[in-house]
Amino acid sequence: MKQKILLVVLDGLGDRPEEQHNGLTALEAARTPYLNFLAEKGACGLVDVEGIGVRPGSDTGHLSLFGYDPKKIYAPRGTLEAAGLGVVVRAGQLAFRVNVATVDLKGRVVDRRAGRISDCSVFEPALSKIKVGKTQFLFKAGVEHRGVLVVTGAGLSPNVSSNDARVQGEKELEVRPTDGSPQAEATAAIMNKYLKQAKKVLAAHGANKKRKAKKELPGNALLLRGAGGAVLLPSFQSRYEMRAACVAGSVLEKGIARALGMQVINVPGATGRKDTNVLAKFLAAKTALQKNEFVFVHVKGTDIYGHDGDSAGKKAFIERIDAGAKELLSMENTVVCVTADHSTPCQLKNHSGDAVPILFYGKGVRRDATKKFGERECAAGGVGRLRGLDVMNELLNLAGRAPLAGA
Ligand code: ZN
Ligand code: ZN
Repeated sequence: MKQKILLVVLDGLGDRPEEQHNGLTALEAARTPYLNFLAEKGACGLVDVEGIGVRPGSDTGHLSLFGYDPKKIYAPRGTLEAAGLGVVVRAGQLAFRVNVATVDLKGRVVDRRAGRISDCSVFEPALSKIKVGKTQFLFKAGVEHRGVLVVTGAGLSPNVSSNDARVQGEKELEVRPTDGSPQAEATAAIMNKYLKQAKKVLAAHGANKKRKAKKELPGNALLLRGAGGAVLLPSFQSRYEMRAACVAGSVLEKGIARALGMQVINVPGATGRKDTNVLAKFLAAKTALQKNEFVFVHVKGTDIYGHDGDSAGKKAFIERIDAGAKELLSMENTVVCVTADHSTPCQLKNHSGDAVPILFYGKGVRRDATKKFGERECAAGGVGRLRGLDVMNELLNLAGRAPLAGA
């Protein structure tokens, strides 16, 4: 009989040994009785999401886990993030992922996230009013310092670089054309003019004056990346013959799900931040499995703690996930998979190419000797080492949905 599939992605879950945890990772140090139960009754392994040693972004990492090879499909970050905010990028338009950041008078990036500013929607009207010639801009705020910028004009090209050096303390870059076309050159020039205007508008903005008075970092510059035009991806349903739904708080993952034609379920309390209600998400997933054959649950907090270098916080957050994971024990007729899109080791404060743990639980799963859900235990698990693109294949196989390879 065919089973349903629940894929839980704990963003940036994988980590490295920490002295403060006596050489264990945050996941290994956390008390996780329910995830351990799933590991013990199921099978575990490690995933090289985009290949051994490759550092995945959250966009390419998720696409790989869904079985879409990011090397073969066109799915730029800007377009996916826009989809996550409900904005469809039309032919001829361009979308960028935006960080609202803090830059000093010399143009050095003091904080790429403007002190993790809690809400950028106050800047939406002012940033959307700016025009460069006939080119128009729409800024839409996402979660915390994140947003998207949709550009409408003639002859725009997605082949332009980011202005984000990605390193705090370094000078902000110029947007540059990445191919020799006049369109890319013109687009880069337009974007640089926009960014200059945006700085003026933000410097004078009342919300920043208030932030300064409270000794908070102002959101006084925009860092753009992931320029993309319209995309049309082959839908998840047509590819796998499963109705699919997504439970996520963060914009990028909602956008990827929407671009693949999944139904995006908005769960109250699913914030895409550290304060998210994990239990509510797992309960919503359970409900969604009544009408769908595939449900994807995304939890962002683990990655945020990794970027903040807060291993104690990551451990405590994993324990909160585990409390919610009790719900995963009683999913009927469903193969449950828990994994990550990449590692975000707290000591690196960034994504790494370290393989991520994975567990499969459900009827028909060959039980292995794994007793705990952790990096080391998973390394010795019966699943062995998978590539990200193998994960969907293995899930289809376990759920009795894999097509026959031969005749
Ligand atoms: Zn991620
Ligand atoms: Zn990350």
